[in-house]
Amino acid sequence: MRIDVMTLFPEFVEYVLSESIIGRARKSGALDVRTHNIRDYSEDKNRRVDDTPYGGGKGMLMAAPPIYNCYSAIVEDSESLPREQIRTVYMSPRGKLLRQEDAKRLSEYGQLIILCGHYEGVDQRIIDEIIDEEISIGDYVLTGGEIPACILADAVGRLCPGVLSDPECFEAESLTDGLLEYPQYTRPPVFHGMEVPEVLLSGHHKNIDEWRHERSVEITRERRPDLLKDRS
Ligand code: SAM
Repeated sequence: MRIDVMTLFPEFVEYVLSESIIGRARKSGALDVRTHNIRDYSEDKNRRVDDTPYGGGKGMLMAAPPIYNCYSAIVEDSESLPREQIRTVYMSPRGKLLRQEDAKRLSEYGQLIILCGHYEGVDQRIIDEIIDEEISIGDYVLTGGEIPACILADAVGRLCPGVLSDPECFEAESLTDGLLEYPQYTRPPVFHGMEVPEVLLSGHHKNIDEWRHERSVEITRERRPDLLKDRS
């Protein structure tokens, strides 16, 4: 999958998405992540990308033309991909809350283009013109869309073929089937007097699966009863 991030701070996004599993996937070619500095697409002689809002109000807004120029250059560069294989997302506290099912859905596109806002956000007309959906990472306001974009790229990227060595890693984990994950243990068998649950040492796979499922339901009921409601 190709992920393009449009931002005023490409170094920030590059840094975060160069480490660990996503960084390795980029090196191996399983993921193609590209960052684009919106400022490079400004037609202003001082490379300005923001302006005051019409109608008054505090702060500055990112103007539409540099974002549109940046977007057009990205789309032009991916001409071989059918338009319906490209999804363009604006990270926004006004967007739909990001859930695992959204990450899965977005991982099925060939290309994801992410717009990071800054200051007071972006001109509505760029949203109307190029954005397929707005996504929020939570009910709080951050200074910019770069952290949300990294979160989205990570959540989507790790679901793409070849990124994780064993797809079972995510098939059994929290939220994939609408439940939170069961408790996990590794060596040593006793830590500070606490033993690993016996069933996990039994080698009896059916019992282990049952135990894990019951713990998942129990933890979900305790911490996120809303998820159980969504399943029924
Ligand atoms: N004035 C905007 C509003 O009230 O909706 C908030 C702008 S915020 C200070 C600047 C940028 O940070 C936004 O354009 C967006 O890209 C990003 N951002 C902030 N909080 C976010 C969140 N919870 N989820 C996704 N993006 C967020």
